[in-house]
Amino acid sequence: MVSLLWINCASGCLYMKILLVEPDQKFQQELLTILIAIGNVVTTANCAEEGLDKYRTSKYDLILSSSTLDSDIVKFCVNIKNNESSISSTPLVILTSRHHQSVGARCLISGATDFISKDRPDEIISYISKKAAYLNTPSSIRGKILYIEDETSIALLTTAILEKYNMKVDHFNNATKAISAYNKNEYDMIITDIILQGEINGLSLVKCIRGYEGKKGRIPILAVTGFEDTSRKIELLRSGVNDLLVKPVVAEELGLRAQNLISSKLLLDDLEYKQKQLENMALSDQLTQLYNRHYLFDVAPKRIKEALRHKFDISLLMIDLDFFKKINDKQGHITGDIVLQEVSILIKESCREEDIAARFGGEEFVVLLAHCDFSHAYAKAERLRLEIEELRPSGLRVTASIGIATLDINGEVDFEMLFEQADKAAYVAKESGRNQVSPKLDNIKSTNSSKVA
Ligand code: GH3
Ligand code: MG
Ligand code: MG
Repeated sequence: MVSLLWINCASGCLYMKILLVEPDQKFQQELLTILIAIGNVVTTANCAEEGLDKYRTSKYDLILSSSTLDSDIVKFCVNIKNNESSISSTPLVILTSRHHQSVGARCLISGATDFISKDRPDEIISYISKKAAYLNTPSSIRGKILYIEDETSIALLTTAILEKYNMKVDHFNNATKAISAYNKNEYDMIITDIILQGEINGLSLVKCIRGYEGKKGRIPILAVTGFEDTSRKIELLRSGVNDLLVKPVVAEELGLRAQNLISSKLLLDDLEYKQKQLENMALSDQLTQLYNRHYLFDVAPKRIKEALRHKFDISLLMIDLDFFKKINDKQGHITGDIVLQEVSILIKESCREEDIAARFGGEEFVVLLAHCDFSHAYAKAERLRLEIEELRPSGLRVTASIGIATLDINGEVDFEMLFEQADKAAYVAKESGRNQVSPKLDNIKSTNSSKVA
């Protein structure tokens, strides 16, 4: 008869292959019944020797062993660990009785993975559920690994292990080829053997990667070494290796270390991406995705200084939509927003990479045109004016008045003065009937000046 306590604790467990070593027949039967009921395949053993025999002849996902065996439990733990294969390990959980709690710590030292009191069936079931969920859930972490190993048999084995952990592996047998692949592709981590045939050894490869700028130089590196000496390990860590594994590699250890390194890297990538997004949000206008006035007032003065120092032309357009308030009043604010977005796309698409297109305020836009004298700025403004007139966003006739100011590269003009000139010019365009560019090209030609009239 299984106690209700056990049943209440067991829910949602997934399949595992368990070896249960338990001399207490009553407890063994209770635990066995519930483990089977929740979907596990369980092999039982009544004593240490039987447990070891069964462990040697089959593979298990978990060993549960009572702390009160016929032989010394510490000896049993050591024997289990000594029988482990070099590429896998099985968790060994000791079930202690209330009177034998202190034995748990000794078992841990001797190789047990964990110990749980037999009085806590909730903890036993919770442990089993978590372990089963972990084993049965394919890892969501997918990473692309650059792997360098010159021994084919080891490379094949390691690649198979990593693939089981959902990772894609690009294997190379020498560092030169690996570096060339690294230059061309994106990876999430590097696993490298330290002793490598070829011109570049593992340590030099690590130093080379750490010499890269930015993200490429920060990729996690897991070094695999055949030597366990401390000074070598320290040297590797100093040169920029994030983690180390000593051969022969234990499959689960390799998989988990790789997963940990990749998940930290992905977290960092995500953080960096979000940071960039925040920066972009601070610099751009949310409605139109053009730069905002903060960005304009931060960057434009620097561009003006550059233009004055290097004597290249720079012009500023102030674009103000005509009677925009009427659009809002008649069509509603949402239509007004759509008009602003469509006009912004048009402005943005008309700009070159080095130009700055910003939304200065409600329906006012500023475009800073680098390497652009007055006549080119005028031609551009006139083209933009016509394109806005022809755009008919949301089916509406929308026009703009545009003011131009061009920097006098021999003068004492700063950004604020240039901005003021463009603003005044836009005002003149409004006063002169709207849907036009000011000053007119002819006005400039007749005064024979590149300054704003
Ligand atoms: P003018 O031809 O003299 O420039 O007239 P106007 O109506 O375009 O200019 P005015 O400055 O009188 O009105 C600008 C309007 O722009 C008023 C404001 O409600 C509207 N506006 C400002 N920001 C936004 C916005 O983000 N979305 C929408 N839909 N309207 C906005
Ligand atoms: Mg306005
Ligand atoms: Mg306006």
